[in-house]
Amino acid sequence: MNWLIGLGLAGLIALFAFKLRLLTAGGALAAMFVGASVFGAGGVWASIPIIGFFFSSSMLPRALGRPHKTERRTAIQVLSNGLAPMLCCWGTVLYPERTDTFWLGYAASLAVATADTWATEFGMRYGVSAWLITTGRRVQPGESGGVSVVGSLGGFAGSWLTATLCMPLIGSANLLWTVFGLGVFGMFLDSLLGATLQARYRCATCGAITERRACCDGQVQTLRGVHWIDNNGVNLLSTMAAAGVVLFLR
Ligand SMILES: [Zn+2]
Repeated sequence: MNWLIGLGLAGLIALFAFKLRLLTAGGALAAMFVGASVFGAGGVWASIPIIGFFFSSSMLPRALGRPHKTERRTAIQVLSNGLAPMLCCWGTVLYPERTDTFWLGYAASLAVATADTWATEFGMRYGVSAWLITTGRRVQPGESGGVSVVGSLGGFAGSWLTATLCMPLIGSANLLWTVFGLGVFGMFLDSLLGATLQARYRCATCGAITERRACCDGQVQTLRGVHWIDNNGVNLLSTMAAAGVVLFLR
């Protein structure tokens, strides 16, 4: 029954987000699927932190007045952050004897997603200086693998908010620091993978160096990194890693 209610509520929120131009149609479908899983497995207490993540990350660019146009999120972008939390929700149902562990994994992966998104937004809005996490070379704020002071502080705040919102679900205030710490760990892992595994391309037409596979409708060459790992792949890996650490250690 919860799953049906969840499907209805998540569908409404996804439709609302679609109307607000936060999501593409595919993105809305994916968000509905993730939301229904969360509500179905964990009800209201599980849903609050993921709704917090979703709306804070969608609204932050506008709230901070970032001059860039914000793009609608696609299904791939929704799932790169939502798949790990969703699998943890399924875990609580499929493995009832490990429910607490899977909820902790859910909180941790959501903390990573929130921290990383907040870090990017704050870094791009206020981070006048960003450095590549591996070599310390100066990079543009918002570039994958770059870290900045303001961005990191934004990430800490995002992780802390998620950890706080997850407390009723986790049921123990002692674990607040665990969730917060894993969120911060995942945020820096995200930067590390962004600086190493994530591909950089050069456009064969205009010569621009880009993180995107599409430029000028032409071919791109891979300069470094793994050619199929983009920012979404890195988000998926870092959220999965935080959940993996919880499942491995508990
Ligand atoms: Zn180009």
